Amino acid sequence: MEREHLIKPVLDHYYPTIEYGKGVFLYDDQGKAYLDASSGAVTVSIGHGAQEIIDAMLEQANKVSFVYRSQFTSEPAEKLAKKLSDLAPGHDYWAFFVNSGSEATETAMKVAIQHWQEKGRLGKNRVISRRMSYHGITMGALSMSGHVLRRRRFIPLLEDFPVVVPPYCYRCPLNKTYPECKLACADDLDTAIKRIGAEHIAAFIAEPIIGAAGGAVVPPEGYYKKIKEICERHEILFIADEVMTGIARTGAMFGMEHFDVEPDLMALGKGMSAGYTPMAAALVKDHVMEPILQGSKSIMSGHTYSANPQSAAVSLAVLDYIDKHQLVLAAEEKGSYLLARLRQMAEQIEMIGDVRGIGLLLAMEFVSDRSNKLTFPPGLGVTSRVIERAFQKGLLVYPAAGGVDGAGDAIIVAPPLTITEEEIDLLVSMLEETVREVM
Ligand code: PLP
Repeated sequence: MEREHLIKPVLDHYYPTIEYGKGVFLYDDQGKAYLDASSGAVTVSIGHGAQEIIDAMLEQANKVSFVYRSQFTSEPAEKLAKKLSDLAPGHDYWAFFVNSGSEATETAMKVAIQHWQEKGRLGKNRVISRRMSYHGITMGALSMSGHVLRRRRFIPLLEDFPVVVPPYCYRCPLNKTYPECKLACADDLDTAIKRIGAEHIAAFIAEPIIGAAGGAVVPPEGYYKKIKEICERHEILFIADEVMTGIARTGAMFGMEHFDVEPDLMALGKGMSAGYTPMAAALVKDHVMEPILQGSKSIMSGHTYSANPQSAAVSLAVLDYIDKHQLVLAAEEKGSYLLARLRQMAEQIEMIGDVRGIGLLLAMEFVSDRSNKLTFPPGLGVTSRVIERAFQKGLLVYPAAGGVDGAGDAIIVAPPLTITEEEIDLLVSMLEETVREVM
């Protein structure tokens, strides 16, 4: 066999070669079809091969693909920043464009720290996150992530940022029950701030709905209102990591809209360009920018490809596509249908402990005993077995943390928002067959 050169995620694993994608399907070079029920990595929200996006890409490439941000600006980047602000709650955001979700959360962190520096509060430079969280793979983003598996190898290089408990009601880390708990998980943030001292903390970061580290974990009612109140009381900025939840995925343009809370900063990625080109952003509210505008007038961050017109044009076309095809509404409606179908399936299969999520960000958690929510031993690799079996059948689903850090084995089901009811029926029947075979 010819030697390989491309470093793939697992070096001794066979990866089929995809030839093309159309709608919710991908096709490999052997003619096998895959129903993309994970939108890749919860990314391809408008489906594969959308002609409007390809046209927009070509149109921009015919003008100019790249201008350097310290020399020029471009119409697509300016328009995109305004469009995102118009869409976001409060409509008063600035946008800093980057290329990945990790860069977006890390930029948000840096802007938050700079905000306090420009106000002369130099000690406010720590960020609190939650256990069972994932904010990215670069060192700053990983420092803010509770994802044990992804951190493990780099622990000595990571900042030892504090973490608080996640709002994971199915397996409450505090062994309490909602609503009697009175949102003790949110109070954990208050306790941590008092312990560390608000004078040392710049921001709190959280995914509105926990993605890869837990599997579409939706917090209980009132959680974010309380979190925001705690942050404001202690003068701590609230960063919503909307990399997975943002841009229509949950049946709202931004995940935080479900909780009626406006974050001070947001990180976007994935669905922003729906996988057609790398694009991500940190959105920063006016009041966070204010001391920077009055002070140094420059954010100390940025990448060569930041705000490149090619990716900005693609993102604008994706937002137009979402609007034209009413995909926010589609995510809500198709999400309700898929959730109901998955719950019907769970009634038949004892090993499905929980089915949860909002819009088309859904998950299924597996248990060895439903009555006491007993998890499978991590060594059994239940999540991987489900994912692999589904893959063999031509169904793509996304892994959640899988039995570490207090999380159970879970898969995320997050197909493109363009999926039809017939395709959902096919998805559910393939998934049911898979789960029955593995369990
Ligand atoms: N934040 C969240 C919530 C994510 O789900 C991810 C990726 O899965 C990231 C950040 C990192 O994004 P990227 O992989 O584009 O760097």
